[in-house]
Amino acid sequence: MTLESPLIAILVLGLGLAFIFGAVAQRLRISPIVGYLLAGVAIGPFTPGFVADSSLAPQLADVGIILLMFGVGLHFSLKDLFSLGRIVVPGAILQIVVATALGMSLAWWMGWGIGAGLVFGLSLAIGSTVVLTRALNDRHVMDTPRGHLAVGWLIVQDLVTVLALVLLPPLAGLLRADVNGAPIPEAVDFATLAETLAVTLGLFGIFIALMLIVGKRAIPAFLHYVAHTGSRELFRLAVLSVALGVAFIAAQLFGVSFALGAFFGGLVLSESELSQRAAEESLPLRDAFAVLFFVSVGMLFNPAVLLTETWPLLGTLAVVTIGNAGAVFLILRMFGRTTSDAVLIAVGLAQIGEFSFILSDLGIDLDVLPERARNLILGASILSIFLNPALFALADRLKARLEPRKTRAQTLEGRKHEAIPQSALKDHAVLIGYGRVGQLVGEDLVRGGWPLVVIEDAIDVVENLRAGGVEVISGNAADERVMRGANIAEARLLVVAIPNGFEAGQIAEQARRINPNIETIARAHFDAEVDYLKRHGANEVIMGEREIARAMMEYARVRKTSTVAAPQPEPG
Ligand code: AMP
Repeated sequence: MTLESPLIAILVLGLGLAFIFGAVAQRLRISPIVGYLLAGVAIGPFTPGFVADSSLAPQLADVGIILLMFGVGLHFSLKDLFSLGRIVVPGAILQIVVATALGMSLAWWMGWGIGAGLVFGLSLAIGSTVVLTRALNDRHVMDTPRGHLAVGWLIVQDLVTVLALVLLPPLAGLLRADVNGAPIPEAVDFATLAETLAVTLGLFGIFIALMLIVGKRAIPAFLHYVAHTGSRELFRLAVLSVALGVAFIAAQLFGVSFALGAFFGGLVLSESELSQRAAEESLPLRDAFAVLFFVSVGMLFNPAVLLTETWPLLGTLAVVTIGNAGAVFLILRMFGRTTSDAVLIAVGLAQIGEFSFILSDLGIDLDVLPERARNLILGASILSIFLNPALFALADRLKARLEPRKTRAQTLEGRKHEAIPQSALKDHAVLIGYGRVGQLVGEDLVRGGWPLVVIEDAIDVVENLRAGGVEVISGNAADERVMRGANIAEARLLVVAIPNGFEAGQIAEQARRINPNIETIARAHFDAEVDYLKRHGANEVIMGEREIARAMMEYARVRKTSTVAAPQPEPG
């Protein structure tokens, strides 16, 4: 069955099914990504029923990649990028060499020639932007040094892919082989090859220089100008135009990939915190498009290869997961990074996606790679994305063994799968969220002599608190087990210092159910939230905006009565 309007069909069915399957996955406590992939398989051409337009889905997914990488660039600074270069450039190149060699061995076992092996191996070495950024965001490590290291690694992989894509056509003659795998002798024009390489690197250099010299001034200035029009809608449009425009120009004029182009677009905005925040708020579409990425990968997958190509597929999957992760882990340890950093980045890169599809498609078009490679690469991609969340959980257990100082329950990334520690405190205060509000409250509670347990979701905050000797339960307080871990049943005071009113209401209600006598104080931003929280069991609700107004009024009142000159605002 096909429908009149393929774009709408894909948006409605793709997003709708992704939502349903994702929600089911969430309920079963597996990653929603698995649900999105299965939604793709369901509307793909290899399963009965509705078949969505399979040329549209990858284009929508590209929009997702552009917005994602633009957002990633926003959180990077040029300084980070330069300081990372010393590790990620040699590290990623070495990892690509190792994974390519493993892929070539597998290809040799399947009877393919050296050229086919080379392209096949390279396709297995390059991770997917979407999967990695999702994993980093889910674990709240995108804005941390190790998150940056992982993204830097990916950027080098992306650059290598761009080079491989331009070098493949002139080298195709050399890499082609006959059916028995023997190379077909064909002369290679080394002058053309050198020229292609020089042009590609030259264009890339010009693009970077333009972005850093012109873009770095022009883009923030443009956004500031638009901000002054006072129209939020125009501002959002401007941000979207910059993100998509830079990526498009990068790809069309400079031969740089969409992902790299968008990354640099975000990067030049990152130096100004204001434009960074504003731009960040203007990308609400990003997540929906990123979901379409997974749907589009699922659509390409033919489940039959699981049966027809079982062993080669398992071999390919092993290279992608064990090969890549092992290489990244060892290389990072060699560079002196901690086991915990190395594990996080290694597992994050133990998957393949969009770059591998582009590379293998080109290889097949040029007759370098056999058609059979397509299914193996797609199959390994979907399986590696499918397995990625589980690998994180597994790695976490291994890490707990490797780092005997930490008890298993204390390790963070796999906390959903681990026992939640149990607080032994009684008559204590439980503080939820240790951000801008929670930190101030927490410090004061401790000063006031309260025994304190903090519940916090962000891994880095948890680690800092632990280092400072504060008792913390890591996880989402809306999860009853996490609340019980803080021994809410015997607590006296609950302070809910998180910004989301709905979540706070759920937490307050749950706490009241477990401990009817607990005193709860919560935080809100709107009148409706205040009512909601009170109805759900909060004794006192502090509305942030009202307190800000109160402090401002107080300031104005004091100014009116005092004769002392007001402090001068800081320049800038
Ligand atoms: P802020 O808005 O700066 O006060 O930060 C809020 C803090 O609360 C952040 O550190 C979040 O990681 C944390 N947080 C938000 N929601 C939850 C939740 N449901 N459970 C635990 N921590 C949370």
